[in-house]
Amino acid sequence: MKMNFDERSAYEKMKSGVLTSTGFLGHDTRPLTDIIAADEELFKALGLDFDQVADRLQELAARGAEGLGEPITVDGIYLVKSDEARGRLPCPYGDGLYHKNSVSVERGDDRIIYSDLSLHLLRVHHFCQGQGSPFRLDPVVLKRICS
Ligand SMILES: [Zn+2]
Repeated sequence: MKMNFDERSAYEKMKSGVLTSTGFLGHDTRPLTDIIAADEELFKALGLDFDQVADRLQELAARGAEGLGEPITVDGIYLVKSDEARGRLPCPYGDGLYHKNSVSVERGDDRIIYSDLSLHLLRVHHFCQGQGSPFRLDPVVLKRICS
C-alpha cells in the first residue's frame, strides 16, 4: 500500500534517534498502516475501545501522580508510578506537543509504560507503537490491565 505524505513523514519521525532515542517502532519492520490496521483488528476482536482504554490509562496516570514519583497502589490491584514531565515532545504526525512524562502501571505479571504522547497516539491515531518498542501498548496486555 502506498503511504500518503503525512504517514511517510510520521513514519520517518518514529524511527529511533529522531524525536526520541528509542523511537516508536521497536524492531517492527511493517509499514505504519499495517501496524495500525493489525492493532485495530485486535482491539475489535478483544472488545476494546481506543477512547475507553485511553481514558482509563489517563485516569490511572492521574491517580498515580498522587504518589509524587513513588509507586503507589491504586484500586488495590495496580501499582502505578508517575514521573513528572521533563519537557515536551511533538507528535510524529505534527498535531501537537505532549508532556514527556513516564507512567508505569503494573498489574500481576503485566507492566506497561506510557506518556501523554503515547495516550494521544493511542486515542487519536490508533497507534500502539511497534513490536519491541518499550512503550508499546499491546492490545492483549491492555485487555488484561483494563478488565
Ligand atoms: Zn498526533
